[in-house]
Amino acid sequence: IALPPRRAIRELPDELVSQIAAGEVVERPASVVRELVDNALDAGARQVTLRLSAGGVRAIVVEDDGGGIPAAELPLALKRHATSKIGSLAELERVATMGFRGEALAAIASVAEVSVTSRTADAAHALRLDARSGELSPAARAVGTTVEVRELFFATPARRKFLKTDATELAHCLEAVRRHALARPDCGFAVWHEGRLVEQWRPASAEQRLRDVLGEDFITGSRAVAWQAGPLMIEGRVGLPELARARADTQYAYVNGRYVRDRLVGHGVRSAYEDVLHGSRQPSWVLFIGIAPERVDVNVHPTKIEVRFRDGREVHQALRHAVENVLAPPRTAELDAGSA
Ligand code: ADP
Ligand code: MG
Repeated sequence: IALPPRRAIRELPDELVSQIAAGEVVERPASVVRELVDNALDAGARQVTLRLSAGGVRAIVVEDDGGGIPAAELPLALKRHATSKIGSLAELERVATMGFRGEALAAIASVAEVSVTSRTADAAHALRLDARSGELSPAARAVGTTVEVRELFFATPARRKFLKTDATELAHCLEAVRRHALARPDCGFAVWHEGRLVEQWRPASAEQRLRDVLGEDFITGSRAVAWQAGPLMIEGRVGLPELARARADTQYAYVNGRYVRDRLVGHGVRSAYEDVLHGSRQPSWVLFIGIAPERVDVNVHPTKIEVRFRDGREVHQALRHAVENVLAPPRTAELDAGSA
């Protein structure tokens, strides 16, 4: 077989580098939703409002009441590897914000039409930046930020082809907001689709937020977990065996407030159900793991949905014990003595 002639090594243009990065981070509208809500929460928002059109494919508009972006920094927000969240490797190792890669807005702007409108507390008015033209114009809004993302994947038809129906994409967007909403009961969330309010969660206590998002059945069918083991804290609720379902659609794991999908976490929880749950039925649970930031690496995957624990076994065991303790509390010494 004849190989194609070798081409010289060249640096890729910036735009193409962003488009390649977008391939990892922006799979569908829900990925954009996740990144933009991360940013709103990092900015201290107490209310996040999303307006979607065509399942998010035609438009995703995210408004927040966070601190806003200073006018002078607005163009930087859209630049690759530009972030206000870390400035050194030491800071990366202790990072407490959702974002730190400085990549999301640049990646999204390389595969969609993006504008950012923002106003800080000390600004006389808001400024709007159009990503494509680089044009800045005065705008009207209260303190906070609005990011508009239109015509996702308009220039990358290969990606566009993988999108499902609007209803399916909307469902994925709602799931992305739900993951944030469970972790941040202090923040209000509203989602509009085609001008109709489709979901709203007002600020509430942690338990009330779980009830609002997952329903009363989840609360009555689950028990609270509060477990401390050395540097580990585990909180949340785990479903009783009766609440188990065929599908694993109510399993939410968070590490230091960030939603993660982790086999080790899933396995640790599952192992606690060994004796009470049979067959392929899936337990329902929402668990928040608090751990010293230096004991977990969050910079493993571009979407940060995977993490690496320094001591995975410790986390696995703590989860197992925390959950077992609630499902089948150890009998007290007195009871043990009585039955002996
Ligand atoms: P990262 O979140 O990793 O820093 P992003 O590309 O998501 O990277 O955002 C770049 C920068 O733009 C952020 O570091 C932040 O300073 C600013 N920014 C983005 N969205 C918002 C927002 N909603 N409110 C305030 N600042 C924002
Ligand atoms: Mg971000």
